[in-house]
Amino acid sequence: MTSLNQLYQICGQDNVIDNPQLTNPYTTDWRKRYHGSAVAVVFPRAQSQIQELVKFCQVQQIAIIPQGGNTSTCGAATPLSDYNKPQLIVNLQKMNKIISLDRDNYSLTVEAGCTLQQVQDYASVHGLYFPLSLASQGSCQIGGNLATNAGGVQVLKYGMIRDLTLGLRAVLANGEVLDGLTALRKDNTYLDLKQLLIGSEGTLGIITHATLKLFPIPPAYCTLMFPVSSIAQALQLLQQLKTYYTNNVSAFEIIKHDSWQIYQNYFDFKHEICNAPWSIICEIEVNNDFVLENLLILLEQNEIDLNQSVIASSENERQLLWQLREQIPLAEKQYGYAAKHDISLPLSQIEEFVTINSAKLKEIEPHGYFSIFGHLGDGNLHYNFGLVGADSQQISELEQLVNPLVYQDVIARGGSISAEHGIGQSKKKWLQQFCDPVSYQLMQQLKQQLDPLNLLNPGKIFNSPNTNR
Ligand code: FAD
Repeated sequence: MTSLNQLYQICGQDNVIDNPQLTNPYTTDWRKRYHGSAVAVVFPRAQSQIQELVKFCQVQQIAIIPQGGNTSTCGAATPLSDYNKPQLIVNLQKMNKIISLDRDNYSLTVEAGCTLQQVQDYASVHGLYFPLSLASQGSCQIGGNLATNAGGVQVLKYGMIRDLTLGLRAVLANGEVLDGLTALRKDNTYLDLKQLLIGSEGTLGIITHATLKLFPIPPAYCTLMFPVSSIAQALQLLQQLKTYYTNNVSAFEIIKHDSWQIYQNYFDFKHEICNAPWSIICEIEVNNDFVLENLLILLEQNEIDLNQSVIASSENERQLLWQLREQIPLAEKQYGYAAKHDISLPLSQIEEFVTINSAKLKEIEPHGYFSIFGHLGDGNLHYNFGLVGADSQQISELEQLVNPLVYQDVIARGGSISAEHGIGQSKKKWLQQFCDPVSYQLMQQLKQQLDPLNLLNPGKIFNSPNTNR
């Protein structure tokens, strides 16, 4: 039995909960598909407490589940339901201090428990810009963003969080601290070890601090939503936009009309554009009044129906457009369970993949519905196939049929089965099946080297030896 007293001693009694009613939100994932068990949830307030926790868990053979905002969509932050060791959730929400802003260096150092929104707001109040932007930004934490290498809607211009990170600090499975909290943009002294932690989903270390890149606030935006008849038409336009506006095209999102139908069950947005086969939300960072005029001419030349388009004419309207996009996953969640795929493909393959693969899925389940949306500019689609009214078990059965078909086609076209959400519990099996075997073996060796007792987030990404979980 885990002695709560020892956890109290390390973190303080106010920072430990073990009552199942209180721990339930932390032991269940965002989609409510995974329900794990944990002896307690602890909320450390300092890196030194995390080090002590790790050392304590090492001795007691307790598995540690690092947790941020618990917005993972693949069960990455949820303890296992039937693990053969006790599990302790270490949630970083109380390590949420902004450490320092270096204005001249365009960098910000924060504790890992800061929410993404907090970081964006802090940068903005100081006249600077942190471009990572996700619908979950009010809850997700920088540590979670790093551990999942989060993407979002501004990747086209700014990259994923890997590209936005100068340095980080993490507590390793042996309690030692990997101190790479540099603010340098150039440093070839070491192997770039922070890259190992970024995207490792809490399996290699607990990230406690990060130094992030900031940018000047874009002088203005041109943001609009317009209909397209096909993915091919959208991509042809994207190519032209990139030619005209180069790196200023910062977002290019796509939404299938079926997703709007789901959306309209829960949110109030009635507009002709919802009937078009696809809608695009595009944002260009500009500081010149002629851009919108030129852009509209370009759209007309491409036979886009401007009457069906929505142009943001103020910052408020721009926020409303983004809100529409961000609420789509929330509407989907309320609509019910679905077989969800966070895939990426070379842009040249997307149209054909969607046409051919969606026909295959319909053949398997003629009553299935699609909801397809995502970051088209990055080649990343949320390609979801559901059954109205299905429960979690029925969706698991559907996934057994659908997932091999989706992932085989994705891989055959040079794509990825996990573009930005990670592997967690839900894609572990598919990773093993589709990952390059040499890369997979190397990953296992790294895990073994850094966490020989398999204490950190067992059963995520990797199978746990002995239990096959
Ligand atoms: P958690 O869910 O708590 O944890 C995720 C993983 O990170 C787990 O493996 C956990 O163990 C690990 N972890 C957490 N904190 C730490 C830490 N300090 N040290 C080490 N490991 C840690 N993702 C995108 O990339 N792009 C999107 O556009 C996007 N949109 C989303 C929209 C919605 C509505 C939702 C619910 C999710 C979305 N996500 C998106 C997924 C999710 O928000 C991201 O993966 C996010 O980065 C997770 O952060 P978190 O703090 O919630 O982490």
